[in-house]
Amino acid sequence: MCVCSLWGGSVINLGTKKHRDKYFEGINNLEYLGCFAMTELHHGSNVQGIQTIATFDPLTDEFVITTPNDGAIKWWIGNAAVHGKFATVFAKLMLPTHDSKVVSDMGVHAFIVPIRDLKTHQTLPGVEINDCGHKVGLNGVDNGALRFRDVRIPRDNLLNRFGDVSRDGTYTSPLPTINKRFAATLGELVGGRVGLAYTSVGVLKIAATIAIRYSLIRQQFGPPKQPEISILDYQSQQHKLMPMLASTYAFHFATVNLIKKYAEMKKTHDEQLVADVHALSAGLKSYVTSYTAKSLSVCREACGGHGYAAVNRFGSLRNDHDIFQTFEGDNTVLLQQVAGDLLKQYQEKFRGGTFAVTWNYLRESMNTYLSQPNPVTSRWEGEDHLRDPKFQLDAFRVIFYLFLKYPLAREYRNFIILSIFYYQTRYIHG
Ligand SMILES: Cc1cc2nc3c(=O)[nH]c(=O)nc-3n(C[C@H](O)[C@H](O)[C@H](O)COP(=O)(O)OP(=O)(O)OC[C@H]3O[C@@H](n4cnc5c(N)ncnc54)[C@H](O)[C@@H]3O)c2cc1C
Repeated sequence: MCVCSLWGGSVINLGTKKHRDKYFEGINNLEYLGCFAMTELHHGSNVQGIQTIATFDPLTDEFVITTPNDGAIKWWIGNAAVHGKFATVFAKLMLPTHDSKVVSDMGVHAFIVPIRDLKTHQTLPGVEINDCGHKVGLNGVDNGALRFRDVRIPRDNLLNRFGDVSRDGTYTSPLPTINKRFAATLGELVGGRVGLAYTSVGVLKIAATIAIRYSLIRQQFGPPKQPEISILDYQSQQHKLMPMLASTYAFHFATVNLIKKYAEMKKTHDEQLVADVHALSAGLKSYVTSYTAKSLSVCREACGGHGYAAVNRFGSLRNDHDIFQTFEGDNTVLLQQVAGDLLKQYQEKFRGGTFAVTWNYLRESMNTYLSQPNPVTSRWEGEDHLRDPKFQLDAFRVIFYLFLKYPLAREYRNFIILSIFYYQTRYIHG
């Protein structure tokens, strides 16, 4: 993921043709292994607070990359400790002004910085690399720390899609403000978040499968003088695992839909779609990864003592997955972004004259009303009705609709999932 999504993705998405021509093939055939160096020891979620600087030197036509203090050391950088040859380094772009003692801060930009020799793999002069040490999980990736002591790179190494510096040091950008450039830069990196949401569902599928299969064959207690029964026949076990199974299906379809939207966004660059994918990927990534992290403990417990045996994988799944809640955007911070987006949408809805607002309100209410299942048939409890695949599909469609439309409507969604499985387990499976 670091190679293709973060390092490769940053070069392709934040760079221009000259970068794709120069680096794409090497990235694609893994000759140019690289890393994505955004986080610093003192700044993770607050990316605009990073302190690494890239100062333009008009005399040599180079940028000078500097780590000004210990807090600005790039930290947790995947592929840095052992394998990476390059790093996309996020730094504040500093441009000299007419007064030689003053530089202007143009905000966070991304730069390609070679960190190891392509042939000898020796660390390059001015670059200091250390290993971040043994982690709770994901030890297959060599996370490292990078410090730059006035490392010089050519001007061409600025990934210049959203902001460029000419030979004479003039800054140009298609976007008017630092904040807009910053949002556009981060917006191009949502691919990692999309991938993480989908991968988290994969982990949930594995854990739920192990726990449900085991619960079917594990037998404990039973009616007097009769064989013991499967633990999945106990309601408490069903309540642990069946809503989880339903959620797994819902998350599968929701993340597949997100990937389709993401692919469409990459093709069309449609502004509305960009905003949708940004909010949806932030919401789904945080919701799904938090849900999966909690479910891994539920699954372990649902398998009793055997769930604790390393061979049954809950421990390694839990340790490897846990950080999904933090990287590619801390879940709490991402949910704040979703909340901000929802408030913006809410504000949009109430813009315009009284008539327009009333009309939009009625139209929205009608859409919601029409999307509800038939209130009579949805309350039938007969076996034929409950076994009818059409009813079941409709029920899943409602969950899917609610989940997409209201990613934060946790109580409502879980209530529906629970209801369906309550009916299924009570009436269909006897
Ligand atoms: C294994 C691993 C691999 C990583 N790989 C990379 C990599 O390849 N490249 C890279 O650049 N980075 C990488 N990271 C860094 C990762 O992206 C950051 O850890 C993440 O962005 C969170 O930043 P932080 O650790 O500074 O946490 P902080 O931002 O300090 O957050 C700490 C706590 O404060 C809370 N918090 C923060 N801000 C707010 C707020 N505004 N409101 C409410 N609560 C708040 C958070 O919810 C969290 O609980 C990696 C990290 C790990 C552990």
